[in-house]
Amino acid sequence: QMERPSVEQLRRGRRQKFQSLLRSGLRSVPAIREQAPATSIEVAQPEEPDPPSAVPVVSIQEGSGMSQAERLQVIEQDVAGCQLCPELVKNRTQTVFGVGNPDARLCFMGEAPGADEDIQGIPFVGRAGKLLTQIIEGCGISRDDIYILNTLKCRPPGNRNPLPEEASHCAGFLARQLDVINPEFICCLGAVAAQNLLDTSETIGRLRGRFHPLDGRQVLCTYHPAYLLRNPSAKRQVWEDMQILLKEMGLPIPGKG
Ligand code: URA
Repeated sequence: QMERPSVEQLRRGRRQKFQSLLRSGLRSVPAIREQAPATSIEVAQPEEPDPPSAVPVVSIQEGSGMSQAERLQVIEQDVAGCQLCPELVKNRTQTVFGVGNPDARLCFMGEAPGADEDIQGIPFVGRAGKLLTQIIEGCGISRDDIYILNTLKCRPPGNRNPLPEEASHCAGFLARQLDVINPEFICCLGAVAAQNLLDTSETIGRLRGRFHPLDGRQVLCTYHPAYLLRNPSAKRQVWEDMQILLKEMGLPIPGKG
């Protein structure tokens, strides 16, 4: 049985939604509901929190004619209002949606926001994120060309691993993001991303180093940059994986040829 969110949590969710819309550049929001005409005998109703629902609250509809960026804004807003995991909702500063080119050929997918990401609202901005930026730039690519997202959009307290239930609550958001961006290639960073996306319990050591076809996309798995911070010798294998990726994407491999 899920706890009902408090009025304060619902208000915070709405505030976040609005802030994320403003941050992503939306300046007007289409009306969602026709207001019933006012009657002379209206009685004020006490404020009732909306019940949590398995279907994310959608305030504006994704529609045809919207750009990829606008469609992502709609999903970002739904993520910001999500109340499905009470422990994450209670502990998050904000949700962390994703960042980058809405039309990217390549997405990097991590595990979940850490402390720095929770504060800044942007994935991979802490120590592991700086290493990821170095890896991306070492491939001759810019962070602005690709898209970066996580399996979970909220920080698990104490950076614990996401629970399967939390990952399944977020899976719909991830599917919608990927549907809009429509990347040809996805690079999963670490076991959590790889196992959730590919729906397998295989270890990252066995999944890495080759492509896994998924819904018309090519998924490559490699070690998480946080693992590399603890095990720098695994950088060699990550570089091998990046070369496999670059070759398949038809991009030049820096330092070769
Ligand atoms: N680790 C992740 O998996 N994602 C982030 O955004 C940051 C660290």
